[in-house]
Amino acid sequence: MIESKNFLRTIVEEDLKSGKYKEIVTRFPPEPNGFPHIGHAKSIFINFGIADDYGGHCHLRMDDTNPTKEDTKYVEALKDAVKWLGYEWDGSVRFTSDYFPKLYDYAIELIKMGRAYVDSLTEDEISEYRGSVTEHGRRSRYADRSVEENLDLFMRMKKGEFAEGEHVLRAKIDMSAPNMKMRDPLLYRIRDTDHFRTGDEWSIYPMYDFAHCLSDYIEEVTHSICTLEFENNRDIYNWVLDTLSLKSPRPYQYEFARLNINYAVMSKRKLLELIEGGYVSGWDDPRLPTIAGYRRKGYTPESILTFCDQIGIAKANSVVDVSQLEFCIRDDLNKKVPRVLCVLNPLKVTIENYEGSEEIDAPYYPHDVPKEGSRKLSFSREIYIEREDFEENPPKGYYRLTLEQPVRLRHGYIIACKEVIKDANGNITELKAEYYPDSKSGCDTSGIKVKSAIQWVSAADAKVIEVRVYDRLFVAEFPEGVEDVNPNSLKVIKNALIEPAVVIQKPDVRFQFEREGYFYADPVDYSDEKPIFNKIVGLKDSWDKKKKKTTDKRAKPQERKVQIDGEVAPMTSEQQTLFDKYTTELKLNSEVANTLARDAYLSEFYEKALSLLKSPVNLANMIVNEVLREIKERHSTKLRFTPGQIAELVKMLDEEKISSKIAKQLFEEMAKSGENPVKIVKEKGLIQISDPAQIAPIIDEVIAKNPHNVAKFKAGNRKLLGFFVGQTLKATGGRANPKIVNDLVVKKLQ
Ligand code: ATP
Ligand code: MG
Repeated sequence: MIESKNFLRTIVEEDLKSGKYKEIVTRFPPEPNGFPHIGHAKSIFINFGIADDYGGHCHLRMDDTNPTKEDTKYVEALKDAVKWLGYEWDGSVRFTSDYFPKLYDYAIELIKMGRAYVDSLTEDEISEYRGSVTEHGRRSRYADRSVEENLDLFMRMKKGEFAEGEHVLRAKIDMSAPNMKMRDPLLYRIRDTDHFRTGDEWSIYPMYDFAHCLSDYIEEVTHSICTLEFENNRDIYNWVLDTLSLKSPRPYQYEFARLNINYAVMSKRKLLELIEGGYVSGWDDPRLPTIAGYRRKGYTPESILTFCDQIGIAKANSVVDVSQLEFCIRDDLNKKVPRVLCVLNPLKVTIENYEGSEEIDAPYYPHDVPKEGSRKLSFSREIYIEREDFEENPPKGYYRLTLEQPVRLRHGYIIACKEVIKDANGNITELKAEYYPDSKSGCDTSGIKVKSAIQWVSAADAKVIEVRVYDRLFVAEFPEGVEDVNPNSLKVIKNALIEPAVVIQKPDVRFQFEREGYFYADPVDYSDEKPIFNKIVGLKDSWDKKKKKTTDKRAKPQERKVQIDGEVAPMTSEQQTLFDKYTTELKLNSEVANTLARDAYLSEFYEKALSLLKSPVNLANMIVNEVLREIKERHSTKLRFTPGQIAELVKMLDEEKISSKIAKQLFEEMAKSGENPVKIVKEKGLIQISDPAQIAPIIDEVIAKNPHNVAKFKAGNRKLLGFFVGQTLKATGGRANPKIVNDLVVKKLQ
């Protein structure tokens, strides 16, 4: 795989060139207190990737210095994840706990040098004495203990003579250092808990800042790559190694921006809350952003590595749109997997003029996939099609089967619907149809024009499967935790029907169910008696949150609009004219323009809205995203709102009367009630707050409530800016203008 050049690689190359190191050694150092997530995948990709590419080594080290939360099951999960991503660590798995004796010796050395002391202040006192960004700290009254006393106390701490919190070992650095991390940082603390590897051998455990740099040194690591929140810890890293005068070459720490993705939480603590609260089924639940979750869902390691490469390595934190990851898996599977026919919501069709049965040879792969293979589809009188592929009262632009409009059965014949059978409640239970004998796919001489081809299965031999369809786990783009969980994130379809080859021949474990998406045979629950498939991803981005980012170099390559493989309907000249107008005159991006132009209903809706409001881009986005989703969810174009209402909503957005967050909420409300959006906004008081005088006191309150985060921010943790902005927005129910909040927060925290 080709990895992009980035600042870390530049440093590595320079260090090799200058002879600073003969060989590159990196490490991936997780704490075994949870399953690794997609953020860890990025770290794995960086550390192992660099070692691989520069002929070096990468170690897998369990950073197991906190006995209360760690466990071997997490060690195994971490090993699995690294292996599954295709990497091999150098030598055996390493453990910081293996270095406990050496670390202890280094601590003794620091004490003997007078550079570390046993402190006996309480936890609260220690934090109080540390001072703040504006105030110097004060040194503890215990800092002047003699070397002998310190040695004696430290050894007794080790033996377990004291209770937790009674004493700690601290480095003696500088209580007035501008970097607050350097104000006599803690090196060891007492923990009265058994460790999963060392049992009760130790009563003291080294802190990250002491253990990490020394473990790197012991392993002869050269580049210690970590995430930005450790930037201020770099000074301690260097202080420990320099003060102990460790012989070179020694490691240096470099930081990169951690990966965040929207609609997900990543911290292991929050993941654990979801699991323990029963919101998901376990660490490998396909809705979680864990590597085990993605794996179970059906993601390939290649797709995850491609994603890690595409997002690049930066020095500033940001959030990556999850649809970018979805793009990577779709793109990967598109090149690899067999195409098969599955009907999720079956509707019976009896083809009355067909007698007997026949076998149709159907290739698994489209022309542009360099793979071979085919299967037989058996065709006879009774088949099932997707319920949605028939409409009795079709909206304009409906291309599938209707009473007037024939449709092609994929790989098979063209059929026409002759009669609709309903039950007492008016639900359609069956269609009677006729087929055209001379219309068979591949040798069609019928001359009949159809607008699309649909999937089907033969009633006689279709297999019943369970299909698990996953939606985003959170409704909020930036979820806080369990309170933002989407209650409908899992839909189980018990009686989908699939062509038999999938479960009998098993040509693969991942498939494209044509026109539905990509699916994976669940590796845990699947059995031949009860085949179960997970939906990996749809064929196109139904959330499509992408805005007009055509200038962004990293924007997703344009996705093909495929109705069905090999049968992409070319645009009619009418559609082409619309498309050209949308892209050139109205400056829509081509994907949005494509969706609108090909859909007569949507384009008409759009034109109407546009005649009322000259805001072509925002209207188009609203229609292609929200309106289209609503149509899909309702399986109908009978909407409760009009183009005029959409125009009014977008107008308020354009005029910054409402925030985009509120716009979403408003849309939902309007779609449900059909109420006028302006009226909803008035009644519910949703007007955007842009007046700084109104916002300022809310920010003040947030600041007053979070003194610790203020201190951290002032100490250099710029990441917390998002925290303050988020809290303020939350306090206003999403009504405050984010730009103004952002500016004010920056000013107030200066
Ligand atoms: P979390 O806070 O999510 O529980 P962590 O940072 O505590 O994660 P560790 O197990 O300590 O997780 O991290 C192992 C390595 O993975 C570290 O080098 C860490 O910097 C890196 N890492 C963790 N999360 C991310 C992320 N979101 N993006 C990139 N790297 C990450
Ligand atoms: Mg951690």
